[in-house]
Amino acid sequence: MVRTRFAPSPTGFLHIGGARTALFSWAYAKKNNGTFILRVEDTDVERSTQESVDSILHAMDWLGLDYAEGPYYQMQRMERYKQVIQQMLVDGSAYYCYCSREELDTMREEQRARGDKPRYDRRCRDNSEPRAGVTPVVRFKNPIDGVVAWDDLVKGRIEIANSELDDLIIARSDGTPTYNFCVVVDDLDMKITHVTRGDDHVNNTPRQINILRALGATPPLYAHLPMILRDDGQKMSKRRDPVSVMQYRDMGILPEALLNYLARLCWGHGDDEVFSIEQFVEWFDLNNISASPARFDMKKLFWVNAQHMKNLSNAQLLAVLDTAKWNPELPESTFGAAFGERLAELEINAVLDLVKTRSDNLNALAAEVAYFYQPRVVSPEDSAKHLTEEAKLILNKFANSLESLPEWNLEAIKLAIKEFCSAQNVKMPQLGMPLRLKLCGTTQTPSFDAVIHILGKNKVLARIGA
Ligand code: GLU
Repeated sequence: MVRTRFAPSPTGFLHIGGARTALFSWAYAKKNNGTFILRVEDTDVERSTQESVDSILHAMDWLGLDYAEGPYYQMQRMERYKQVIQQMLVDGSAYYCYCSREELDTMREEQRARGDKPRYDRRCRDNSEPRAGVTPVVRFKNPIDGVVAWDDLVKGRIEIANSELDDLIIARSDGTPTYNFCVVVDDLDMKITHVTRGDDHVNNTPRQINILRALGATPPLYAHLPMILRDDGQKMSKRRDPVSVMQYRDMGILPEALLNYLARLCWGHGDDEVFSIEQFVEWFDLNNISASPARFDMKKLFWVNAQHMKNLSNAQLLAVLDTAKWNPELPESTFGAAFGERLAELEINAVLDLVKTRSDNLNALAAEVAYFYQPRVVSPEDSAKHLTEEAKLILNKFANSLESLPEWNLEAIKLAIKEFCSAQNVKMPQLGMPLRLKLCGTTQTPSFDAVIHILGKNKVLARIGA
């Protein structure tokens, strides 16, 4: 039975790198009819916040990465960690270390002076005498000889000599367990079979494997995922780049498009670029992930998003726009509270048919829909360039010819435009540009005959101001 987990530390929002890790763990569990578990690693009490927990859960929910178990919270499992530490002290796989900070500092200085790598020399390992006034830490008895090795599903075989590893502190002098130890106990208790995580954790793995073995467990399989870099190969930064999952929602990206794009970072299925999450789950496997860092290409993400938008029916698209409007973080101008009411007033299907392939994100789509409801404010530049006295005269005449149109259908409107231009001897753009501005407030609109048709005679005449 496959059991995977995502184990975020709640010290900020859900990062897109974290989302990809979560996606891969989730997909692997789904593919194998396994169980995906969410575990909140909140033992860093200084940096963990409830706000971060909430925002991570919210982002997981938005992405649709559902978990069958959890969220578990490490802070609620303290007793269990302490119990395992006691058990290890009893069975001899851990020991009390009474060395003071000063003693350890001196030891390291001497090691450096000798040209040795500074590390704990295990002086309390076999001779752990209580010292008056000292509350000890607990250290793990790391094997002294041999190697610790595993076949990483992404990076291949990794071997570390035990001589490279310290006797790790597993409990601080105040009794609180340390990070690596909590991870081990959790992975063991939660019967995790596959650990998928960022490769910044690869150095923790040999220590965790040794502790797991000391506890009599078979370690899970590990897949360490490479980093996601910027397009220019640099590290992503919170200040410069959108790294929070929810920033992508705010940019008008569909969750299925973000998942699709994230899936393609370090994983691929031939040349397939656009696929559903169900298709991804079917294709995905942990052992065909590339080990080299991926580059995040924003343009590509928007392209993928546009493809997913095209694949949605109008009803689905409308449902997304309609939910988005309830998101108070989105700007009023696009999905403001009145957006739903506005949609209801429009021939929304016709509007969506016309504009949905013109936008690569939901904000742009909403903005296109919005000018059918109410034209945008014309910029002074556009006004000066296109709404000249001559243009206004043309528009008035055109309004008259529309007014007398007996039928209101696209064919009749197209014909009327053609006849008007030839009778008045004006070129199409001479009519089209000012007309677009009057009708929509922008010159960037779909074909204006279709706009006229959808708006209907009354609105068209009113907007022209005839
Ligand atoms: N809490 C760790 C992090 O947020 C993940 C640890 C793990 O997956 O083992 O980076």
